[in-house]
Amino acid sequence: MIFEKIDRIRDFVREKKGQGKTVGFVPTMGYLHRGHAALAERARRECGTVVASIFVNPLQFGPREDYAEYPRDFDRDCRMLEECRVDALFHPPVEEMYPGGFCTHVEVEGLTGCLCGKSRPGHFRGVATVVTKLFNIVQPDRAYFGQKDAQQALVIKRMVEDLNMPVEIVTVPTVREEDGLAMSSRNVYLTPEQRAEAPVLYESLKEAARAVSGGERDARTLAGMVRERLSGLKGAGIDYVEIRSLPDLKEVERLDSPALLALAVRFGKTRLIDNIVLEV
Ligand code: AMP
Repeated sequence: MIFEKIDRIRDFVREKKGQGKTVGFVPTMGYLHRGHAALAERARRECGTVVASIFVNPLQFGPREDYAEYPRDFDRDCRMLEECRVDALFHPPVEEMYPGGFCTHVEVEGLTGCLCGKSRPGHFRGVATVVTKLFNIVQPDRAYFGQKDAQQALVIKRMVEDLNMPVEIVTVPTVREEDGLAMSSRNVYLTPEQRAEAPVLYESLKEAARAVSGGERDARTLAGMVRERLSGLKGAGIDYVEIRSLPDLKEVERLDSPALLALAVRFGKTRLIDNIVLEV
């Protein structure tokens, strides 16, 4: 069932909750792939009712980012959600989410000043605001987010805790192509040459993880290894390679507890992110 109106999806969820069902929620921007499917399948296993949303949120794109070109294929997305046995899809038009006069935003401080927050000012404010709205609309018991966007998942967890939102956040492991490239709706932007080079991102992360298994604990050395490996890429620029503490994303010098190694690389105008948790 597809709902475009806030009141209608609310009615749907109210009815399901009245039947005693737990509601799982999978927010997305569409152009779905197996990464999104993994979230929906996990929700299907854990919840009586599964609601997904497709909404390309203008608030989380910067003025020079790809909001207008963001890939869309609604019919294919619907088929995929049906295959995952999602019960309802919330697909609001922009005016339904942001009517004239809209002026309230949610700001998660601290966690959003580094990594993607640094190169995409305002991005996490847009994410936190839309996720708050979606949570208020759908009122799920659980919501599912991908580890691929590790900082996003941490920001949402922090927000839910700080604002006492009655929803459990579940993080689902990153789904990858066979060659290791993290699945992303933006992978379609890559030229064949860029696509052929892109698996180096994950290879460089795994190399650092192997070094940690081998005893290396110095964060600067580990990040340096990744940068070195990425510097071999033709036509790609490093946005950041950083090791940060979990879950508060503080700078780390020596690894004495599990830490996040995260990177963002630009291939032309396509920006790809990936990460790995370094276990010590
Ligand atoms: P998006 O449509 O890019 O906003 O992503 C919607 C949700 O799917 C977010 O929670 C993402 O972290 C998650 N997601 C995107 N790509 C992957 C992936 N390759 N593996 C797991 N989750 C993903």
